[in-house]
Amino acid sequence: MSNKTFTMIKPDAVANNHIGPILAKINEAGFRIVALKYTCLSPEKAAAFYEVHKERPFYNDLVKYMSSGPIVAVILEKANAIEDFRKLIGATDPAKAAPGTIRNLFAKSIEANAIHGSDSDANAEIEGSFFFSQMERF
Ligand code: UDP
Ligand code: MG
Repeated sequence: MSNKTFTMIKPDAVANNHIGPILAKINEAGFRIVALKYTCLSPEKAAAFYEVHKERPFYNDLVKYMSSGPIVAVILEKANAIEDFRKLIGATDPAKAAPGTIRNLFAKSIEANAIHGSDSDANAEIEGSFFFSQMERF
């Protein structure tokens, strides 16, 4: 069972002053913050981060959006972290995200959807390593 996941508070949520409320929701849901960084994604880094979506029609816009302003990168710990965190953030499209989920509460659109959540242990490890050194990822 996975006990760590990686998340990013995306540029729309940072710009709209949602960092505090989103981190509070995450803590209330039982996740512990083990690493946190307020930073920016260069277009190159955003392109690499979303490499798996390279062939998708939304890729270029997504890269532009993700590098349009500051983000908050976070590593979280909790039993069953990957699955429980995906449940907490809700569906990719905020219009379809269940009531009370982070995307339902804070997201603007399917692109500017407030928050990222890793979809597997392997991807959480890869994504965390974009922002944090081995030492910072205890
Ligand atoms: N995205 C988009 N248009 C789409 C689907 C996804 O702009 O039709 C963006 C959105 O920001 C999403 C990200 O691409 O969070 C990655 O897509 P994915 O399918 O992995 O969704 P997620 O895992 O974030 O729910
Ligand atoms: Mg995804």
